[in-house]
Amino acid sequence: MKTFHNPLHALHQGREEMFRGRMVPCHEVPARLDYVLAELQRRSQGVLFTPEVDDAALDAAIARVHAERYTRFLAGAWDEWVAMDPANAQRDALPSVWPLPNRHGFRNDVLPANFAARLGLFSFDSGSPLMAGTWAAARMGAACAVAATRSVLAGDRAAFALTRPPGHHAGPDFFGGYCFLNNAAIAAQALRDAGMTRVAVLDVDYHHGNGTQTIFYERADVLTVSIHGDPSTEYPFFLGHADERGDGAGVGFNLNLPLPRGTGFKDWCAALERALDAVEAFDAQALVVPMGLDTFEGDPISGFTLGSGDYDTVGRMLAAAGLPTVFTFEGGYAVAEVGTNAVNLLEGFCRSA
Ligand SMILES: [Zn+2]
Repeated sequence: MKTFHNPLHALHQGREEMFRGRMVPCHEVPARLDYVLAELQRRSQGVLFTPEVDDAALDAAIARVHAERYTRFLAGAWDEWVAMDPANAQRDALPSVWPLPNRHGFRNDVLPANFAARLGLFSFDSGSPLMAGTWAAARMGAACAVAATRSVLAGDRAAFALTRPPGHHAGPDFFGGYCFLNNAAIAAQALRDAGMTRVAVLDVDYHHGNGTQTIFYERADVLTVSIHGDPSTEYPFFLGHADERGDGAGVGFNLNLPLPRGTGFKDWCAALERALDAVEAFDAQALVVPMGLDTFEGDPISGFTLGSGDYDTVGRMLAAAGLPTVFTFEGGYAVAEVGTNAVNLLEGFCRSA
């Protein structure tokens, strides 16, 4: 399997994130990607590429998923942050005020002139620091997703977009959950734009893929399925329940399979079987897998108990769908094990594909 990796990913390197009233070191660190890259090389799993996508094509692919006012904000965010106070050059930008969307409550249709207010308008948590290199890293990550998609469209059975920051929590016009551009959604939309009539997204990260769900929630041409920790106790808390089935034309084209914290591989597998049944019933022509490895038993911020060897089985089950498949790298914060777990999944897929 070809892997497209992001040579600029380490430009995005947060110092600290806000967690329950205190600043803690960031969990989403450059070493995560480095471990996966090293393991891919060690086990000679596929060929490594850096993406070659021209600027205009990349901007067009991003604009199919994200609002123009949001990407314009991200592109200029660091300069505006430093312009607020030159001392900000030494600290990451984190939001601290948000417009809750209650009826007759705060407005989100008027762009505030104040940068800190806009930082809140375009985000949903204070755990996703933004720094000088965030936009360049996220944009090159989207290029990985586009390049992996093109590889699959050219006839490869599967391709892997190995990038960070991750993407599945990012919505049409908001960042959060360490995510800025939704690489999986960009891949799914690019597959649609290339003529695939039905595309399925099957999110196996521990956390609900809220951004992807929001992006495609009113559409019948992209099925979104997510297996994740129950949002009543697990991040991102405010989306990911089983009764969210889509809206308008999209009714019936979103499937959430929340599982309680502590779920082991047997029950997780049963959910994956249900997810794959839905993909088959949808008659998908291509599959996008936001591949989070934070379902691992040793993950420091998650609560399922999959073992390293289980990821081989996950890969085999995904391959059995028999579809052209784009993988995007999402969560996985047991840093030393994330490479082994990711490559176990990809190898399991390749052996069965
Ligand atoms: Zn996650």
